[in-house]
Amino acid sequence: MAGRGKRRRATVLDDDERRGRRRLEESALLLHKIKGLVGWVVAELSAGRSPSLALHRYQNYCASAAAAASPSTCACSYDAPVGTDVLSLLRKEFHASRLNVLLRVLLVVQQLLQENKHCSKRDIYYMYPSMFVEQAIVDRAINDICILFKCSRHNLNVVPVAKGLVMGWIRFVEGEKKVYCITNVNTAFPIPVSIEAIKDVVSVAHYILVVEKEAVFQRLANDKFCKKNRCIVITGRGYPDIPTRRFLRYLVEQLRLPAYCLVDSDPYGFDILATYKFGSMQMAYDANVLRVPEIRWLGVFTSDFEEYCLPDCCQLPLSSEDTRKLEGILTRCYLHREAPEWRLKLEEMLEKGVKFEIEALSSSSISFLSQEYIPQKIKLGRYI
Ligand SMILES: [Zn+2]
Repeated sequence: MAGRGKRRRATVLDDDERRGRRRLEESALLLHKIKGLVGWVVAELSAGRSPSLALHRYQNYCASAAAAASPSTCACSYDAPVGTDVLSLLRKEFHASRLNVLLRVLLVVQQLLQENKHCSKRDIYYMYPSMFVEQAIVDRAINDICILFKCSRHNLNVVPVAKGLVMGWIRFVEGEKKVYCITNVNTAFPIPVSIEAIKDVVSVAHYILVVEKEAVFQRLANDKFCKKNRCIVITGRGYPDIPTRRFLRYLVEQLRLPAYCLVDSDPYGFDILATYKFGSMQMAYDANVLRVPEIRWLGVFTSDFEEYCLPDCCQLPLSSEDTRKLEGILTRCYLHREAPEWRLKLEEMLEKGVKFEIEALSSSSISFLSQEYIPQKIKLGRYI
């Protein structure tokens, strides 16, 4: 037994060492590429030429009546560019500043990699606020750099501030910190900022439950949901950030567990669910490494309202803004291509013209959600 334990520890150490070495190699390669690009720009300028860069454009989905009518003919792809932008210093319109900003952000990234330091997108914005004007300009430059060097944001040492929470039957080590959720399964732990720092993951869970809202996560914690159900519960507290999506994807891949998602029955709830499954347009370039195609929609469905005999006061009519948003979502090409069952449920929401929140299920009994609704839906396979 002792020998086997030692061998296992040795393997884990080897794995961690290998990952550490790979990170260093990736940093060195990226630095080399950055220096090459900056050197080329300087050489072009000193030769009196205006450098220009061709940058691939990515699009994980489109949304239009035409796309809805014939989804198989659109060019959207998770792993191939749909076009090219040319960024040049000489152009007078916004592309000129786009290359300027890209080069300026690149110098910050170069320094981060050389000094093995990390910072946030917000830190970068505050280094040159008058040049960057707004955060979105920096965000786009970071996206541009990732596309240019075919890497992900974490490779640039630009780290987000994680806002997601996790609880349940899992333990892991994050850097030097032990995150042993399993010792107190109903307590919330922050989701790690970077999955690169995670090691020694152990779990005895049977599934992963993703809930849209923190209030529902807290309801489940109060009801000791994880004590009674062998699972891991995650919330991105609204629209999920990159760490939450990467963490979920990492767990699904590492632990090979099914993942179910519970969102409000309204267009925003559905959009959050779609972000987990298909990725966001904003991060189209990275959609394929961030998305969780296997995620199942557990609820709440428009049809749940009648099925669970919820009182009318819990239901609201869709506002004109809701209806517009819903109609827009319904034209997204992936719904026609990859998730026709989801589209049918959405069409039902539009037809009935009503919305309600997950919490409406608590109207008859405060613990109905945790004791009946979720366990039954999973047990009976009532998800899509
Ligand atoms: Zn499309």
